[in-house]
Amino acid sequence: MMLTPGATIGILGGGQLGRMIAAAAARLGYRSHIFTPEGDSPAAQMTPLVTEAAFDDEAALGRFAAAVDIVTFEFENVPAETAEFITGRGKTMHPGPAVLRVTQDRLREKDFLHSIDVVTTAYREVTSLAGLRRAVRGIGPHGVLKTVRLGYDGKGQVILGPDADLAAAWRKIGGEIAIIESFVDFACEISVIVARNGQGATAAYTPVENQHVNHILDTTIAPARIAPEIAMRAEAIARHVADKLDIVGLLAVEMFVTPAGELLVNELAPRPHNPGHWTIDACHTSQFEQLVRAICGLPLGSTEYHCEAVMKNLIGADVEKWREIIGDPAAKLHLYGKSEARPDRKMGHVTRLMARR
Ligand code: AMP
Repeated sequence: MMLTPGATIGILGGGQLGRMIAAAAARLGYRSHIFTPEGDSPAAQMTPLVTEAAFDDEAALGRFAAAVDIVTFEFENVPAETAEFITGRGKTMHPGPAVLRVTQDRLREKDFLHSIDVVTTAYREVTSLAGLRRAVRGIGPHGVLKTVRLGYDGKGQVILGPDADLAAAWRKIGGEIAIIESFVDFACEISVIVARNGQGATAAYTPVENQHVNHILDTTIAPARIAPEIAMRAEAIARHVADKLDIVGLLAVEMFVTPAGELLVNELAPRPHNPGHWTIDACHTSQFEQLVRAICGLPLGSTEYHCEAVMKNLIGADVEKWREIIGDPAAKLHLYGKSEARPDRKMGHVTRLMARR
């Protein structure tokens, strides 16, 4: 089914990703309606259509579902009940609740990847301190303990070395169900964003290289500095996962590249992705426009890039650098309209463009 320009896209979540989806939607003549629990959110600044309510407010959700033509999300921890409520009202949600079920839970996600023959680092489920001790013996002394749900930007993670205090680590992540992964001594981290529409057509962006500082994405280098053969394999993995998930929308696939050139999938995100922000300024079709195309049943756009790019996040007080950045002719500045620059908060990003080699 094609949703033509003029239709209203409902977006769950009010952050910068929602803001950039709304901007791309507006360019193609669509309206956006933001559903967010936050006041004065980055996305709500883009449109007069805003529902400010909690994700479990069924009356508000019902009005939202009735007012929009299709629903997507920019915040992947949308509660399963919220997603089911919306589809229960007969409204299409892309990506759908089944995709969220897999990607909201690190264990389910890794089990799914294994079921479709995608390689990840070794992992084990951990449900108790005794279980953690056993798992460490199984996967080796160097690991990463992660909460199964609601972790992002390194929150809910503890790196374990050979002398780690396992009891303290178990307390630190809250003693909930967790996953322990064997630590990957990677050569680099890359990600591939693939779009897939309702007809099953896919379009992948070139792999990009991601550098983290304090577990938060700092810099994305596009394209990734990897051999073409590795890039081709990475794209093929991303398309395979998108097909098997039967996703309609965007899927970001984060991978570790090992020194031997092996690719291990770390994480999936079924939405626009921070390492994809360079596509706004350097590609024929941005990831945000591509999402709108995919969910509205339009043909997918070209993922070609016309420039190489380095994207840097402006985190916390970095945002003050906007005064220098705005004077740099190679820099494309994006600010998210957040009033308070808390230390770990993504306030904006800057993409520096370079001629394509
Ligand atoms: P995640 O929340 O799983 O995306 O992890 C955040 C970051 O922590 C990753 O981008 C990596 O830099 C690092 N990390 C996560 N898992 C591992 C692992 N198994 N081995 C090495 N580094 C990891």
